[in-house]
Amino acid sequence: MKKKWLFTPGPTPIPPEALMAMAQPIDYHRSEDTVALIKDVLEKLKHVFQTENDVLFLTSSGTGGMEGAVANLLSRGDKVIVIRSGKFGERWGDICTAFGVEIIPIDVTYGNSVDPQAVETLLVEHPDVKAVYATLCETSTGVLHDIEALARLTRVRPTLLIVDAVSGLGADDLQMDNWGVDVVVSCAQKGLMTPPGLSVVALNQRAWEAVERSDLPKYYFDFRKAYETGLQGSVPYTPAVTLLTALQCALNRICEEGIRRTIARHSRLAAATRSAVKALGLSLFAVSPANTVTSIRLPEVVDGKAFINLMLDEYGITYAGGQSQLSGKIVRIAHLGWMNENDVIVAISAFERGLVEMGYDIPLGAGVTAAQEVFNGGSQSQKKKS
Ligand code: PMP
Repeated sequence: MKKKWLFTPGPTPIPPEALMAMAQPIDYHRSEDTVALIKDVLEKLKHVFQTENDVLFLTSSGTGGMEGAVANLLSRGDKVIVIRSGKFGERWGDICTAFGVEIIPIDVTYGNSVDPQAVETLLVEHPDVKAVYATLCETSTGVLHDIEALARLTRVRPTLLIVDAVSGLGADDLQMDNWGVDVVVSCAQKGLMTPPGLSVVALNQRAWEAVERSDLPKYYFDFRKAYETGLQGSVPYTPAVTLLTALQCALNRICEEGIRRTIARHSRLAAATRSAVKALGLSLFAVSPANTVTSIRLPEVVDGKAFINLMLDEYGITYAGGQSQLSGKIVRIAHLGWMNENDVIVAISAFERGLVEMGYDIPLGAGVTAAQEVFNGGSQSQKKKS
C-alpha cells in the first residue's frame, strides 16, 4: 500500500490510539460503558470549546450542526445577518433561506475577513435581527474572522452570535465564555482528529432561551432532545458509537496538551508554513490567515488541478485545491489536528518539488529553510552572530 499524507482541512489524520479504539468490538449504545463514554466526551469537549456550557453532539457531519443552529435558534419571520466570505459563510445563508429565514448578507471579497464595523452598521440599521451567523476559519479561503470583535458587538445587544468553528476549533482561538459567543458549532473530522460523522455544538444561556422560543420545524437535529439525553449519557437515536470511542482518545490528547498549548502549536505550524510560502516567492491568499489552513496563490505557470493530481499520484500527498471560483487558482495546505513540525517539513518539501516539476523555478529548500527557522526561533544566520 502506498504511503499517504493528508494535508487537507478535514478529514485530518487520526491518532493511532483512536484507530485502535475503533477496532474494538462495538458496544450497545444503552450500555453502562457507552453512558460513561458519552458523559466523558461531553465533559472534555467543554475544555476544547473553552466553555462552562454543556456541549451536545449529533450524528452528522458539521453541516448537520449548522442546520440545527438555524432550525433550533430561529423562528418564523426572523431576520439574520450572514457573513459570506467563502463557501461556508454562503452555506449559512443557504440554510437560513431553506428554512424561510430572511437574510441580510454581508458579502466580503474572497481572501478578506469581515470588517466588524460593517457588522455594527447593519446591527444599528436593523436592531431587530435575531442573530449574526459567522465563521471562525473560512476554510475555502483560509481566512480567520475576528470573532472576539463580533462578540463585543452582539453581547451588548439581544442579537445572538452563532459561529461555525467546524474547521477552526482547536486550532484558532475561540474563547466562547470569555468573549461571549452564544453558539459554537464544530465537528469531528478536523481539529478533533476523528473520522467524519459527529457534529458538536455548545450553546450559552441566551441561546437556550432562543431555543425555547423557536418554532421552526426540526426533528432529527432537535437540540433540546440531544442536550437533555446527552446530560444523562444517553441519546435519542442510535449514535455513531465507534466514532465516540475515537473522539474520546483524541480529546484525551487535547486535554493532556491543554487547549491553550494546542492552539499555540497550530499557530507555530501555520507561521512556519506562511514563512515557507513567502520564501518561495509565492503569496498568501488570505489577508488574515487562520492557524487551520494556509491558502496559497499558485503562480500562473502552474495548473492548480494538475498540481494537486501530481502531488497525490507521485508523492502520496493530498493538499486541498480551491473550491468554486478559486478552483485551480489556489492550493490549501492544512496543519490541523494530529500534526507536528515534521509534518510541516514534509508538506513544504514535497510542495517545492512539485512546483519545480510543474515548471515553477524556485531554489529547492528555500521554503524548508524558512520553516525550520521559524521552528528554531529565528534565522540561523542571526543565531550564529549572537
Ligand atoms: N464549515 C466549515 C468552515 C468547514 O470547513 C466545513 C467542512 N469543510 C463545513 C462547514 C461543512 O462540514 P461538513 O462537510 O462536515 O458537513
